[in-house]
Parts: sequence; C-alpha cells; structure tokens
Amino acid sequence: MEKGENRVYLDYAATTPLDEAVLDAMMPYFREDFGNASSQHAFGRRAVAAVDEAREKTAKVLGARSNEIYFTSGGTESDNWAIRGVAKAMRGKGKHIISTAVEHHAVLHTLRDLEAEGYEVTYLPVDDCGRVSVEDAVAAMREDTILLSVMLANNEIGTIEPVGEIARAAKERGILVHTDAVQAVGLLPLAIDDLCVDLMSLSAHKFYGPKGVGALYVRKGTKLGKILTGGAQERTMRGGTYNTAGIVGLGKAIELAEARRTEEVKRLTALRDHFVSRVLSEIEFAKLNGGKDRLANNANIAFRYIEGADLVSALDRAGIAASAGSACASGTLEPSHVLQAIGVSSEYGAVRFSLGKYTTKEDVDHAADILFRETERLRKTDLFARRSAEKVTV
Ligand code: PLP
Repeated sequence: MEKGENRVYLDYAATTPLDEAVLDAMMPYFREDFGNASSQHAFGRRAVAAVDEAREKTAKVLGARSNEIYFTSGGTESDNWAIRGVAKAMRGKGKHIISTAVEHHAVLHTLRDLEAEGYEVTYLPVDDCGRVSVEDAVAAMREDTILLSVMLANNEIGTIEPVGEIARAAKERGILVHTDAVQAVGLLPLAIDDLCVDLMSLSAHKFYGPKGVGALYVRKGTKLGKILTGGAQERTMRGGTYNTAGIVGLGKAIELAEARRTEEVKRLTALRDHFVSRVLSEIEFAKLNGGKDRLANNANIAFRYIEGADLVSALDRAGIAASAGSACASGTLEPSHVLQAIGVSSEYGAVRFSLGKYTTKEDVDHAADILFRETERLRKTDLFARRSAEKVTV
C-alpha cells in the first residue's frame, strides 16, 4: 500500500510514482547544476554531460547507439514525431500507413490528422485477445506503404503484439516500422534489433521516472522530418532547451527498470495471477480481457451488468485506485475503442487493474475483497435488475 494512506494503487499503467533513486539523481539538476545544456561554459558542460550519460543509458537498454536516441516531452510527442516525421519525409514514396485498431490515441489521432491531409491508413483488426495477425499485416503492405506503426503492448488490456514478426516482413518490403513501447519498459525486452524496428517511443513516467519526458529511438539512416523546429538541440532534429533533470531521471529510471525486469516480471505475474484467479472464481459474470500473452502487470476484467465507470468510482470510495477503459478515455460510458475492437459487449463494464513495484499480496487480496463487495452491491441496483429482466424477457 502507498505510504501514509490506507489506499491501494492499482493504476500503474496510467502512471507510476517516482523512484527515490531517480529523484536523487535528478535533484542536482534543479539546484546547483542548473545550466543550459547548450551553453558553452562550465555550467552548460555539466548539464550536457548529464544528458549524454542519460542518452547512453537509454541506448544500452535498447541495444542502440547513443546518437539514435532523441529526448522528447513524452510518449505523445514521440508517437507524433515518429508518424508525422516519416509521413513528411517519405511522402514522395507514398502516402499509405498501416497501424492497428487498438493503438493509443497519441497514434490514432495523429493518423486521423494525416488522413485529413490525404494519407491513407489501414487499421488492422485484432482477435478477441487484442492481437493483430501477422498475415493481415503482410496482406495490407503495398508498394506505396511508407510506415507500419504497431504498439509493443496495449495500454488497456496488456496484449503483447507480434511486432518482431510483422517488422521483419515490413523490412523485406522497404517499409519503416514504428512501435509504441510506452507500456513495455521494465516488463518486456526492448532490443531494437530483435524487434527489427526503426522507431520506438518511450515515456519516463510509466517506469518510475518523471512526467513530461520521453524518448524516440530513430535507427541511423531513417528518413525522418522534424515536427518541432527551433534551436539546434538534438542534432538539429528537435528544438527546445533540454529538460536536463527530466532526461537524467529518464536515464536512471530505464537503467533501474531493465536491471529489475526479470525478477519483477516473475513477482508481478504471480501476484496478478493470484488476483485474477480469485476474482474470476469468486465473482459471477466476470471475464478476463487480453488473453494469455500480455504484460505481467495487467488485469483487465469485464463484469457483466455493471458500468465500468460506476465500479471504478465505487472502488475509489473504498480506497482502491483502478481505471475504466484507459485513463484518457475515462468519463465516457461507451466501451473504449480497444474493448470494442476485441468485441466486449456493452453489457460488460471493464476495469483495468495494473500492478507495480509497490504492489503486495496484501494489496491484491484487499482489492479482491472490496471488488467482491462492490460488484455485489452494484448488481443490486436498478440497472442490474432492469438488465436482468430484459435478458429474461427477450
Ligand atoms: N502510448 C501509450 C501506449 C500510452 O499508454 C501512453 C500513456 O498513457 C502514451 C502513449 C502517451 O504517453 P505520455 O503520457 O508520456 O504522453
């Protein structure tokens, strides 16, 4: 449980708390080492050395060269840059892009924008576990396809996509590949050569780093346009004064996440499976979304005859933090685009429980107890009675 309050945080996919060691690494760059990393004097040199070190740490985790790492303001900017940047640089070759129906809005809304500008996008469907088929992806590839953007793991249901297989087929056809790996750091291997990708988006606040800082991996030789013009930072590719403390935080956080990954995945899988098996065996009309091949920390569970948003509010009142759909989509009663894509009917309300570094067995047992109590209570409301009656008379 979180310090101070008797609350259980099960929303690590939305964001994670800052690691104490990451904060310690960042602090000097808010205080005495405040220099602008682009300055020519000693203050600047200290800052740029810290940025370079963070770049090396990030590159090491990806198996990349440090000059292939570009720092950004987060996952949203990285996704925008990868997609808009390739669209801009490659429009002479074609205007067709392939992506999936279950991407984050940072990808989907960017693609919508490009469609309005005359680009054509094929959105690959997914199966009922949220997985894209390699065959569908290959069938969608065309002469004029310039980019394929497939997320490494889904933010709502945790499904791991077959990025490596799809990317290898794309490479053979000269198509650039981007993956949104924002949810995967510390949970999946990120080796860019195994994944065979040209561009990869990361965001520090999803792996115990600070908010508002991310990175884009760009394979050497990739044709990429700029979206932020300004100063000569990031080898002239992305203007804007360096967020030195944030970048230092990202470097430290990714290093720690990778060092802990194997042990943490084992621990989280056991905790998560315990939680899921309790919920599915104790609560009626509940089913797990996302299938077997998903992130170790994800448990997205659909409850029949309950609105996801109502259950999330009830859980919050009882001290359990989880989310309905994805954090960005909450507040709407329609199932999210991801839940619709896997065919979850509107009779079901889905809640995403995402576990993390501070989650204990006591936390998940407490959450399962509260969940049992709150689903029972909500199902005694008019909505449940009405829907059950409808079911009987139809
Ligand atoms: N991509 C995915 C898969 C995400 O889960 C998120 C955040 O929820 C983003 C992109 C956006 O990242 P950021 O919050 O750093 O802009």
